[in-house]
Formats: sequence, structure tokens, C-alpha cells
Amino acid sequence: MEMVEYNPEYILMVNELKKYFPIKGGMISKTVGYVKAVDGITFNLKRGSTMGLVGESGCGKTTTGRTILRLSGEKTAGQVLFNGQEVYDLSSAEMRAMRTKMQIIFQDPFSSLSPRLPVGEIIGEAVREHKLVSKAEYGDYLDKVMDDCGLQPFHKERYPHEFSGGQRQRICIARALALNPEFVVCDEPVSALDVSIQAQIINLLKKLQEEHKLTYLFISHDLSVVEHISDTVGVMYLGNLVEYGETADIFKNPLHPYTKALFSAIPIPDPKAKMNRIVLEGSIPSPANPPSGCKFHTRCSECMGRCKEEIPKQIEVEKGHFVSCHLYDK
Ligand code: SF4
Repeated sequence: MEMVEYNPEYILMVNELKKYFPIKGGMISKTVGYVKAVDGITFNLKRGSTMGLVGESGCGKTTTGRTILRLSGEKTAGQVLFNGQEVYDLSSAEMRAMRTKMQIIFQDPFSSLSPRLPVGEIIGEAVREHKLVSKAEYGDYLDKVMDDCGLQPFHKERYPHEFSGGQRQRICIARALALNPEFVVCDEPVSALDVSIQAQIINLLKKLQEEHKLTYLFISHDLSVVEHISDTVGVMYLGNLVEYGETADIFKNPLHPYTKALFSAIPIPDPKAKMNRIVLEGSIPSPANPPSGCKFHTRCSECMGRCKEEIPKQIEVEKGHFVSCHLYDK
């Protein structure tokens, strides 16, 4: 693997990142194989931007986010440079300090909030632990963070079960924001919410991004939401990033056969317009036993002989628009 050099334009540089989970079997629990959840992905994320990560469920989006944040044990291979620092080289004390800069917001706000703690404690606990503000400033700081997230000071005394789903997500966002992060992985943050509430949370995330210069990795299966919030988009299939580029380029000119199929299913708001939906045959293969060559070859309508043998390289087809497919490998 060729190591990448730090470029200060990027807050996050991910290079050939792999995360395999061992499959244990037999009487002595021997490793009999690996689930290749993330299988060599490469991308760079500009400071203050949002990258959407899309793909069918089970394609490795969530594991990618967790592996970048070092939340899934050790990586299998590759580099994760956060502000030029290899995240996996940090000691546990250094990692704890770094955690304040790299936060995550989950899909289900209820299960990620302790039911026994009042909201003020949920949001402020880690602020005190990391001594981010003095004791004298703490109360005002908490009020300001909550206000930024659309929460009232009296909410501090309440418990998570007293809030609606949208408000609970605001609490999760406030908890992350209170640590003054630079980078936030948003893992399906609006999928569990009503459509009307989704828009409010998306607008809140956009507002906070502008005010606090945040960078987001926005994981979602909802392509309309991703188009709305993202500057760049990565499309994942079976642990690989098959296409990656500016949002407008990816949505107007999808190149990879998988991206074309995935995007053909986006509903068109015009009742007279005809949808040319490409139906993908079969289901996503197991990441424990992925197809040889191009992993998409078992479902690709444009599959050629070499696709079954050769793993496609990531090619920059136009400036900043990368695709991994032999159709573009001239
Ligand atoms: Fe289809 Fe071949 Fe491209 Fe894979 S490499 S997406 S099988 S054309």
C-alpha cells in the first residue's frame, strides 16, 4: 500500500482502509474466515464540507464511520489521517482527548441516551470530564449549546422519555456539539423520524455546520436527503467505494452501473415524468464470501469477461469524480 502524505486542505484522509471481522468456527473457536465489512476504501474530506455515504443496507457504511472513529477495535489495514494524525497511532489517553474532536450521532436517539440521567447531565457530563470550560462558565455554556440546538434551559431537568423523537435527536446533537467537535459522523440521523421532523433536523445540522465550521460524514440510505445536505457523495457496495465525487456530478452523471441502478429508484416529483428504473437482480452477496473480481459482477447488466477475474482500480474519470469499474479503464 502506498502511504498518503497529509494535505492540510483535508480534515480527514482515508487511504485503503480495511476492517475485517473474524468468523469463528469449530470446537476451539478457530478463525475460519473474515467478514470483509470495509475492504480498501480511499477518500479525502475537505474541512467544513459534508460527504454523503450511500448504499444498500449491509454495504459497510456504518462500519466505515465507526472504523474512522476507531470505535470498532483495531483496523485491519490502511490509514485514517485526522488533521494529519494517524488515528490508530494514538495512545488511549491521546485518543480520549481526540474523541472530543470526532463525534458521532446515531439513528436511534432513544437507545443512545441514558434513560436515568436528566438531559442537562447527558449533555454536560463529558464537558466536565474533559474540563472544556471552567466551573463558573459551565451553566451558561450548557444553556448556549442547548439554545443552539433548539432546546430550552428547563429541559435540563427533564428525562429522555419526556421528549419526542425529534427533540431526542436535538439532545444527541447538543451532546456532540457541547464537546466542540470538528468532525461528526451522522449515522442515519433522520431515518427514524417523521418526514416533517427530518427537515428540521437537517436544517439544524446545516446551521450548526455553518456556525461551528463542522465537517460531516453523513451516512444515509435516503438519496434525496443526501443530495440536499452533501457536497460530495461516496457510493458503497460490499465494503468498497465504487464511485465518489461532487454531489452534482454523481447525481447528474452517475457512472458506475451500481450507482445508476441505485439512483434510478429515486422518485421523480413530476407525475408526467417516466421513471426508468433499473431493477437489480438478486440480493447483495455476503461480505464473508464476496464474488471474485468486481464484487458487483453477479448483478451487473454490463458485466464483461475480465470483471469476474480482475478487481477494478479507482479511476479519476473527470476532475474529482472517481469510479471503480472496468468500463472506464481504457
Ligand atoms: Fe459491471 Fe464490470 Fe463495471 Fe463491475 S467492473 S460494475 S461487473 S462493468
